[in-house]
Amino acid sequence: MKYPYTLPSLNYSYDALEPYIDSMTMEIHHTKHHQTYINNLNLALEKYPRFQNMTIEELLSNLDQLPDDIKTTIRNNGGGHFNHQLFWQIMSPQSTSPDDKLILALEENFGSFENFKHLFSETALKHFGSGWAWLILTPEKKLEVYSLPNQDSPLMRGDFPIMGLDVWEHAYYLKYQNRRADYIQAWWNIVNWKEISDRYQKYL
Ligand code: MN
Repeated sequence: MKYPYTLPSLNYSYDALEPYIDSMTMEIHHTKHHQTYINNLNLALEKYPRFQNMTIEELLSNLDQLPDDIKTTIRNNGGGHFNHQLFWQIMSPQSTSPDDKLILALEENFGSFENFKHLFSETALKHFGSGWAWLILTPEKKLEVYSLPNQDSPLMRGDFPIMGLDVWEHAYYLKYQNRRADYIQAWWNIVNWKEISDRYQKYL
């Protein structure tokens, strides 16, 4: 997807992830927060036609090539656009399971599927301030879990994002207030393992 970037529609309704994520949070998150990242991204690229042919993945993977006056804006808002686009896709109201290949890879890299979930949850919980917890694939095809601040994307480090959890307060505050741990625990109920398995397969 290239310039001008537009807000992708969701594959489910705003209330579809209830009771784990409430309808109002979903609507504001999508139509206000995500839309604002897109608006700012488009505005920054307006005067730089030569970067308008790059995909969002290419932009984020090559931040150091961007002019100084838009580098931070693209980092924050391009990252915001990419991360949220991914976030909507890796959630689903349908209950799904990881495929055998992903399960095996998670077991190999983290000891067990439960260990992986625990590590991911702890990483999301302990991240200080705004940011995301990530499951990524390194260029050496190893799975790792880490968190990044703000809207930074694993693409900026040369890693491939497989799944990400938004732990900005805007993602959960209306329903969970300060209880980030409850949000994280609830979130596992709406993880779209089909999509995550597909992403792992795609990047492998
Ligand atoms: Mn967000």
